[in-house]
Amino acid sequence: MKRIRISEILAGHEALLGQEITVKGWVRAFRSNRFVQLNDGSCMANLQAVIDFEQWDEVLLKRITTAAALSLRGKLVASQGAGQVVELQVTGIEILGDAHPDDVQKTVMQPKRHSLEFLREQAHLRFRTNTFGAVFRIRHAVAFAIHQFFNERGFYYLHTPIITGSDAEGAGEMFRVTTLDAKNPPLNDEGKVDFKDDFFGKAVNLTVSGQLEAELAATALGQVYTFGPTFRAENSNTSRHLAEFWMIEPEVAFNDLQDNMDLTEAFLKYICAYVLEHCGADIQFLQDRDAQEQAQKPANERHEMGLIDRLKFVIENPFKRLTYTEAIEILLNSNHYKKKKFKYPVEWGIDLQSEHERYLVEKEFNCPVILTDYPAKIKAFYMRLNEDGKTVAAMDVLFPGIGEIVGGSQREERYEILVQKCEEFGIPAEELWWYFDTRKFGTVPHAGFGLGFERMVMFVTGMSNIRDVIPFPRTPLNAEF
Ligand code: ATP
Ligand code: MN
Repeated sequence: MKRIRISEILAGHEALLGQEITVKGWVRAFRSNRFVQLNDGSCMANLQAVIDFEQWDEVLLKRITTAAALSLRGKLVASQGAGQVVELQVTGIEILGDAHPDDVQKTVMQPKRHSLEFLREQAHLRFRTNTFGAVFRIRHAVAFAIHQFFNERGFYYLHTPIITGSDAEGAGEMFRVTTLDAKNPPLNDEGKVDFKDDFFGKAVNLTVSGQLEAELAATALGQVYTFGPTFRAENSNTSRHLAEFWMIEPEVAFNDLQDNMDLTEAFLKYICAYVLEHCGADIQFLQDRDAQEQAQKPANERHEMGLIDRLKFVIENPFKRLTYTEAIEILLNSNHYKKKKFKYPVEWGIDLQSEHERYLVEKEFNCPVILTDYPAKIKAFYMRLNEDGKTVAAMDVLFPGIGEIVGGSQREERYEILVQKCEEFGIPAEELWWYFDTRKFGTVPHAGFGLGFERMVMFVTGMSNIRDVIPFPRTPLNAEF
């Protein structure tokens, strides 16, 4: 008999009542030799299966342990007990895979609360917990919402390379990709590694961004987006940085900075709305989890709103938009500054530290903030120079509890200024000939941004460490599985 997933059973139980069905899944609990809680990953809820133990062989019943995989046949009936609407009256039991109780003892499958740190070391069984089941179902929904958003608006999904020859982007430290013998690499006259003999005949790295490539496509196809893995070799062991993360980078011909902000805001709101609409039970579970976590924090670090209200707040309220220069003014005039509570200095020209960003988002405005028009010196070479000659058409979106979630800009479309910028930044323009072509054959204003996928998943799940929203986190000294 074909199996029915538990999510389908619970969604359409009226039609199935009284019918004989088959379900397959893993045991979450087995009580009184009678009640099996079966979970198949299709949703948060378990299906209760009721076994009349007098009918079954004791040896078989002993194999129904936490984590074991079962196929159960039976009649779906209205439940007698509280806690579930329907239950399965079991008429057939097949053990698909045993789970040894001694092994289970050592794992997350014991029915108690485990720390997220401990769970991170459980490559496989972390997926079986309620929390991570919810997180990874939501992670899928966010990815799906992103493709749907762009598809509805006529964007093309562009695959940009993971191995890149351009290390001129300046977005961060890169991982080298090489097939040279690490012990005995070929050397050039200067005694340095000679990458002419390497696989690609030159030094290549894992990509830090698909933006430059996306600009080539956007100035032909009109509007494109990338959604792929991105790598940064910075040794930053924070709760918001991974060495391997996923990034979404839309790039749109004819858009200016205003259009870019409008697109970002609509995009982030769309994702929040999608998750609220499609992931109800998982979000509800994580909201309760988040509430417990918040209660443990000191009062001044707590979110004032629950998870669901935080998502609704983003959907319903316009993001606060202001310039970098205005933000510096606000910081300088704050009591926080006057009382010397910022660790890092504040003055026009500095790169804002996360304490400054958090102050603006969480203390001053209490809503998502878009900061624009940063000093040219602290932003990438490709951002469009403003009339004032010292700021660029950059934008960063800052979210409560997360900090920077999006970084973007209107791009410098004027060839001469771009060349001059490269010189000032010490970027070898000749290596970027393929990029400069976009400014030579019908150059147009265009803009785009990068959303860190995991930072968005953190926001919608309320998880406070980025390692807990990616199945296999890559961080310094951590790539065991
Ligand atoms: P941050 O200042 O937070 O280190 P960034 O300014 O270096 O970020 P960008 O180069 O602007 O980051 O990348 C675009 C987006 O990618 C960021 O807004 C953020 O959401 C995400 N991001 C950047 N670095 C990481 C990382 N190491 N791990 C996860 N997400 C990241
Ligand atoms: Mn940035």
